[in-house]
Amino acid sequence: MDKQPFDIGVALDRIEQAVQPWPKAALFQLAEEGFTSTFEQLLACIISIRTYDEVTLPVSRNLFARARLPAEVARLSWEELDPLISPSTFHERKAHQILAIAREVEERYGDTLPCDRDVLLSFAGVGPKCANLVLGVACGTPVISVDIHVHRVTGRWGYVKASTPEKTLAALEATLPQRYWIDINRLLVPFGKHICTGNRPKCSTCPVLDMCRQVGVDEHR
Ligand code: SF4
Repeated sequence: MDKQPFDIGVALDRIEQAVQPWPKAALFQLAEEGFTSTFEQLLACIISIRTYDEVTLPVSRNLFARARLPAEVARLSWEELDPLISPSTFHERKAHQILAIAREVEERYGDTLPCDRDVLLSFAGVGPKCANLVLGVACGTPVISVDIHVHRVTGRWGYVKASTPEKTLAALEATLPQRYWIDINRLLVPFGKHICTGNRPKCSTCPVLDMCRQVGVDEHR
């Protein structure tokens, strides 16, 4: 098939339609349910690390049903918090991190964790991926969050060429128009889970097959 030039706006429009039937990425879903504060989004992101969205969502809802504000979380003991998040991977360590964050936020900022990348990155357990995702979802700050799906899909398109998610982030910051910076994660997480999957992507029914370079794709459905 002759390939069309890759038009990111057209691609993301088509993907927006294609992902309608599937659940949204966890932090976006939680924001839709009203868990929109920087603090809630940060806690959900920590819970989501190395953890499936199918687990992150109920665990986050469960925690927020018990405690949503920094002061409420800070008042929990580790023994109370750990069982609340125990389906999440590395929950014991995450419970310590969440308590330390809640106590520091309450002490320094009261109820409202500021939309400040340096503040977010100052907390143990929070890396650039979570900081960017939280800034995008909770604060509307134009930042790109590159997870394994965004890295894999944009590489296969031939839109960027980078060996790691970190390098993909730098490449996207140089290439992707800013109006798509938040949406690319929202759209490519479900797209990467259901269509452009890690093994044998579903190219034959993919809405962007006519423009995708299928870089590194040997086997597909
Ligand atoms: S054509 Fe295949 S490799 Fe390209 S985006 Fe679609 S599923 Fe992924």
